[in-house]
Amino acid sequence: MPARKIITRGDPVLTKACHPVTRFDEKLHALLDDMRDTLLQAQGVGLAAPQVGILRRAVLVMNEREEIIELVNPEIVFTEGEQEGFEGCLSVPGLYGRVTRPERVRVRAQNRDGQVFEVEDTGITARCFCHECEHLEGRLFVEHTDRLYTAEELDEMEQENGTEREQ
Ligand code: ZN
Repeated sequence: MPARKIITRGDPVLTKACHPVTRFDEKLHALLDDMRDTLLQAQGVGLAAPQVGILRRAVLVMNEREEIIELVNPEIVFTEGEQEGFEGCLSVPGLYGRVTRPERVRVRAQNRDGQVFEVEDTGITARCFCHECEHLEGRLFVEHTDRLYTAEELDEMEQENGTEREQ
């Protein structure tokens, strides 16, 4: 399956609300397979269909066990708590912003065959659920932050704070 080109900020496709998926057919499966390859190649943790130019409600999220969850027509049905942290996006390459999200998030979605399921997670994966679902509304994380930082600036801040990068 070929990786697809990732659309970056500035392209109007990323500002449009996506349509629900109604057909759980080979075309959807091919899209999800291509999105998986695109995500792996880009070494990201999440990808939404509009990021590859398809205005359909389908996203992928990689959890901390490195399992890729396919979420079709996802809806956030429960949130709890709050976390603040730096967030990036494959469509906003090289820039990161501090964004507040819920600490725990539960999503109801359909799988590639249309079966409804729910998944719940915390931390980075909860953050990712929120970030990817927003893509389906034509929204990007940059709207939640006043300032974007480069990777170099993030490194400098980490050194100043004396935090270890790999723990
Ligand atoms: Zn994104």
